[in-house]
Amino acid sequence: MKPILLGCIADDFTGATDLANNLVRAGMRVAQTIGVPAGPLDTEVDAVVVALKSRTIAPAEAIAQSLAALAWLQAQGARQIYFKYCSTFDSTAQGNIGPVTEALMDALKTDFSIATPAFPDNGRTVFKGHLFVGEILLNESGMQNHPLTPMTDANLVRVMRAQTRRKVGLIDHKAVARGEAAIRARIDELRAQGVGVAIVDAVSNDDLLRLGSALKGMALVTGGSGVAIGLPANFGLSPSLQASQLPSATGLQAVVSGSCSLATNRQVKHFIDSGRPALAIDPLRIASGADVAAEALAWAAPRLAAGPVLFYSTADPAAVKTVQGQLGVEDAGAMVERTLGEISRGLVGLGVRQLVLAGGETSGACVQALGITQMKIGPQIDPGVPWCHAHTASGDLHLTLKSGNFGTDDFFTKAFTVLT
Ligand code: ADP
Repeated sequence: MKPILLGCIADDFTGATDLANNLVRAGMRVAQTIGVPAGPLDTEVDAVVVALKSRTIAPAEAIAQSLAALAWLQAQGARQIYFKYCSTFDSTAQGNIGPVTEALMDALKTDFSIATPAFPDNGRTVFKGHLFVGEILLNESGMQNHPLTPMTDANLVRVMRAQTRRKVGLIDHKAVARGEAAIRARIDELRAQGVGVAIVDAVSNDDLLRLGSALKGMALVTGGSGVAIGLPANFGLSPSLQASQLPSATGLQAVVSGSCSLATNRQVKHFIDSGRPALAIDPLRIASGADVAAEALAWAAPRLAAGPVLFYSTADPAAVKTVQGQLGVEDAGAMVERTLGEISRGLVGLGVRQLVLAGGETSGACVQALGITQMKIGPQIDPGVPWCHAHTASGDLHLTLKSGNFGTDDFFTKAFTVLT
C-alpha cells in the first residue's frame, strides 16, 4: 500500500465527512476512520480523516486523542497534517482548538501554523481577523448562545490568544489577495516576530486557493473544511471522477432518521408526501419497554423489495419538548439512538446495502451499531454530504451521514439516484 499524502484529524464526526468531501472534490481519494484505527487501512487512498469526538471534552483528553491520531497518521506516511474544527470556530474558554494546535506543533517540532475557519461556500468568511456567518459577525449569529461552545467574540486573533501560549498574528486579506509570494513573505515576517499561529483572512474560494499554494510543505495546517480545497493541488492532484469512485451499489434501500432539525423535518415530509412507506419511531413506546426495533424490522421486511423505506423519530420542536419533558433530554436521545442503531443493523441483515442516516449523533450511533471503523468517501449528494462505502459483518454497504440541517427537501430520494 502506498503511503498517504495528507493526514487529517477532525474534532467531530460529521465535520470529518465535510472535510473528506472537500478533499475528494479537489481530487484526493479519501478514507474516513471512526476514531484512531488499530491497524493499517484496507484501501489505498491519498488522505485519511480520523474522526474524533474531541470538540468539547477536557483539553488534556482532546490532546491525548489528537496525538494518538497524529502518531497513526505519521505511521501511514502522512506528509502534511490538517487539524479540522468547526467553521464557526466552536471552542470553550479552555479550547480545544488552541491546546490541540499547540500539542500537534510540539509533536511535529514546528514553530508555525495557520488557523482559519473560512468556508465561503457555506457563508463563513474571515476579514481582518473577524469571522462572519453570512452577513453577521460570529458573536451576533446565534453562536453566542450555543449551549456548549458559546462564541462571544468574532475576533479570532483574540479568541486564539486566549487559548494558546504561542504568539498569535494575522495574515490579512491584503496579503492573501496578492497571492502565494505575498502570503509566504507575511509568514516569514510573522515568524521573525515570534508569532507561532496566524489567523488568515479569506472571503472567497480564490483566497483559499491562493492560501493553499502557500501552505505547500507546512507541517501543520489548521482550519475548517474550506482550506482543504487548495491542498490537493500541492501534491499534483486535480479534480477527477476517479477520486470519488466507489464500488457499484447493490441491494435494498432504506433511510433512518433521528434528526429533528428543520431541514430533516422537511425531508421526512417530502418522503411521506411522495407516497413511499415510512414508519414513525415513538420514543414513548421505546420507554414503555416495547421491542420497537423488532416491530420496525417486521414491518419493513415485506416492503423493502419495492423501494426505499423510511424510519423516523424526527419530530417538530413541540413534540420533542414533550418527549424530553417526560423522559429527560439525555435519556430520550439515548433510547432513540439505541433503537435506530438496532434498526440499522437489522436492515443490513435484511439485505439493505444503501443506507441514508440523518442526524449527527444518530449517524454516530448507527455507524457504531454496524461496527463500522472506516469508510471510503464517494460522490457528493449535496454540499457537505457524500456517499461513503464501508465493510460490515453482514456485508459491504453504501451509506451517507447527513447532519441535521444539510440537504435539499428531496434528499431522501435524491440520494439513491446519485448512486445509480
Ligand atoms: P442533528 O444533526 O439534527 O442535530 P442528531 O442526531 O445529532 O441530529 O440529534 C438528534 C437527537 O435527538 C438525537 O440524540 C436523537 O436520539 C434525539 N431524538 C430524535 N428523535 C427524538 C424525539 N422524537 N424526541 C426526543 N429526542 C429525539
